[in-house]
Amino acid sequence: LTRMYGPLTALSNVHVDVMTALVSFDRVFEVLDLKPLIDDGPDARPLDGAAGAAPAVEFDHVSFRYPAAEEVSLASLESIARAEAATSREVLHDVTFTAGSGQLVALVGPSGAGKSTITHLVSRLYDVTGGAVRIGGRDVREVTLESLRDRVGVVSQDAHLYHDTIRANLAYARPGATDEEIWEALEAAQIGDLVAAMPDGLDTVVGDRGYRLSGGEKQRLALARLLLKAPSVVVLDEATAHLDSESEAAVQRALATALAGRTSLVIAHRLSTVREADQILVVDDGRIVERGRHEELLLRGGLYAELYRTQFARQDGSSDGPTGGPTD
Ligand code: ATP
Repeated sequence: LTRMYGPLTALSNVHVDVMTALVSFDRVFEVLDLKPLIDDGPDARPLDGAAGAAPAVEFDHVSFRYPAAEEVSLASLESIARAEAATSREVLHDVTFTAGSGQLVALVGPSGAGKSTITHLVSRLYDVTGGAVRIGGRDVREVTLESLRDRVGVVSQDAHLYHDTIRANLAYARPGATDEEIWEALEAAQIGDLVAAMPDGLDTVVGDRGYRLSGGEKQRLALARLLLKAPSVVVLDEATAHLDSESEAAVQRALATALAGRTSLVIAHRLSTVREADQILVVDDGRIVERGRHEELLLRGGLYAELYRTQFARQDGSSDGPTGGPTD
């Protein structure tokens, strides 16, 4: 039903005149042969495997509008989608940056600025409407989706756990993983001791109705899952949930392990992350308005300095406050 309903919604949303709507009868049949708009291109080839250094991620003059009706991203309605897109708002404008091989790039900015949208384009949840996103020099539209999603690991803010055992939740990232590999990932993510202390160990059921885990524990399980998947590019939305300081320190260590040697794009909410970032991109209203490292951006006294005061400063211990930063 959804497959039928989507196209109809698309048609009703588009400002076509009645005659055009009537003559597009064959389009209805095309619609029945549905294909998602985000699909492998005809000449798609796999993104090269894990050999060698982590690939650079490059945004080259990227602009983007969300399709007006997400559900109806259908190849056979491409022209309609395009017509619709013309009426939707552009949310990214001329975004250009490079996350070099193994670098950590932090995205910061006000709510609604476009940070999540930038991360969506890396794993090609959507296609850009202008410019290009490249990984290892390859346009993401020219590589197979399977290989792209194998190489790009995504950890969202509210790490989703299935109502299933810890083993199943982790093995889903790498089917066939041995218990030894799972324990290794749990240890590296700083959650091995906790799982070992649970009565059922790896067989403990977590998720909605299962063993209750704190926000920090869920995040560390998500990081263990990421480590097991071992992607060479990581896209991560740091949780905003306030963690106790012990949990915070554990998450920080787990993060450091998970991101080491991988090219990472992180929507940053932690002071430790922005401090360590090779590059901070300050996003405002769909544009990169400032870029640089923590200290230099603080000194500039612009939007980053303001965000620092409102978001990050309170995480700063009194003993290691910024040098040369704003003093108020
Ligand atoms: P936050 O910090 O609140 O998560 P953000 O910086 O990640 O915000 P985005 O979620 O990327 O911002 O949103 C950028 C713009 O795109 C916003 O105006 C938002 O309303 C719009 N937007 C986000 N998702 C969609 C969507 N699926 N369809 C249409 N518009 C969207």
